[in-house]
Amino acid sequence: MPYEAVIGLEVHVQIKTCSKMFARVAAGYGQPENTLTDPVVLALPGVLPVMNKEAIDKVIQAGLMLGCTIAPVCKWDRKNYFYPDSPKNYQISQYDQPICLGGFVEIELPGPSRNVMGEHKKIPLTRIHLEEDVGKLSHGVHDSLIDYNRAGTPLMEIVSEPALHGADEAFAYLTALKTVMIYGGISDCDMEKGQLRCDANVSIRPAGSTKLGTKVELKNLNSISFVRDGIDHEIKRQIAVIEGGGTIVQETRDYDGQTGASQSLRSKEMAHDYRYFPDPDLMPVKVDEDWKARLRAPLPELPFDKQRRFMEKYRLPYTITAVLVRDRELSDYFEAAARLCDKPQAAGNWITNDLLRDLASSRQSLADSRVRPAHIAGLVKLVEGGAISSNIAKEVFVEMFATGEMPEALVERKGLKQSTDTNELEEWADAAMAANPKSVADFKAGNDKAINAMKGFMMKQSKGKANPRLVDEILRRKLAG
Ligand code: ADP
Ligand code: MG
Repeated sequence: MPYEAVIGLEVHVQIKTCSKMFARVAAGYGQPENTLTDPVVLALPGVLPVMNKEAIDKVIQAGLMLGCTIAPVCKWDRKNYFYPDSPKNYQISQYDQPICLGGFVEIELPGPSRNVMGEHKKIPLTRIHLEEDVGKLSHGVHDSLIDYNRAGTPLMEIVSEPALHGADEAFAYLTALKTVMIYGGISDCDMEKGQLRCDANVSIRPAGSTKLGTKVELKNLNSISFVRDGIDHEIKRQIAVIEGGGTIVQETRDYDGQTGASQSLRSKEMAHDYRYFPDPDLMPVKVDEDWKARLRAPLPELPFDKQRRFMEKYRLPYTITAVLVRDRELSDYFEAAARLCDKPQAAGNWITNDLLRDLASSRQSLADSRVRPAHIAGLVKLVEGGAISSNIAKEVFVEMFATGEMPEALVERKGLKQSTDTNELEEWADAAMAANPKSVADFKAGNDKAINAMKGFMMKQSKGKANPRLVDEILRRKLAG
């Protein structure tokens, strides 16, 4: 019997703020252990939490970008549990009145080949809520250590509906979500730093059925590829259980990306009872139209919207747009260059081929690059205007990448301008014919390709600077004569 997989993702995204969610102390990564703490984070007696407005702003912005309804009123709840990663013995979160409801993530599935756009889908969201992160435990052989630097960092949880149907879709969902968050400046989503973490809920059901099967929750998926592999593995495991006559039990499993195996962490009977109740120390938050409008104004165009615009407005091929829009700075850079030279396709080619190649090989970021949009535009104009050939332009690119010199100045200084001096070209043409009598004879006998040897000769004589169109014209005229 064929099965359909059903997946819902719960994604935690650390919000990029200066300070923690309910305390003044700085939020940060990579500091010495337990230096980013204060009495509020450590829950010393008598302290009170105070909301970080920047974090609330950013969650609202995330919600607006994802088409969520922003709740007119949301509130804070205590999620109670006893574990040393939280000194308060509860985590401040949002239970029944989260800040964002509904919305969706637009995803692109893999296409039939890399050059062809894949199918797009909108994956509906259930909610987004705001909470505080907890501390980090590291377990040794004889002891366990706690670092509270991460405790209290603003965290949003983005919950999808059970509407993804395979590991590829989950992969596409996370990739798209991450890009939107980075575009909006909400988070850097660096998974190695724990800024984006994902739990995957997986079930299977007979194809065609609309009833949900029993779900298994996968924890500790700490890279997007592990999410894909873990889900793939879990779908296969569930099918094997069913086909073996067993039933799926609701449980939480731990997937090990290194070994590719999973093991049960806890079953439904052992599930936590968090005894949620409203936090009496914090007021509900009212979000009015003015506040939303202020936050909406600076939001960027979404990546897929930008990609569609690039394909329509600039007539760029899909592959180039896919590279450009992956990175907001790169797409802005491209638009600046395209505006300056009015040749978007040529600018797109230089940027996605030559510039990205040289940035990668010299380990530079776009911001470090000496080649600015004006350099790209200048180079495009030199080629389009016939001043230099595309071969010479490649050399100019390499040099201006290294030095930052403007291409016009570089071409002038090194005398690289294409030769359109017809006297010189005539002489070279005569020399080319004299040096290649066999090619002349072959050409006259009707072999058109025989002209290439003479063209090559002329290009060599001119050190690549002869204008190819003129070379062709002059040679043909002489050969016909
Ligand atoms: P819980 O109460 O166990 O936290 P929720 O209903 O809040 O479960 O859902 C948590 C996540 O699990 C959501 O992303 C949801 O889409 C997903 N989910 C719920 N039921 C299923 C299912 N049967 N199969 C796959 N995913 C599911
Ligand atoms: Mg839940």
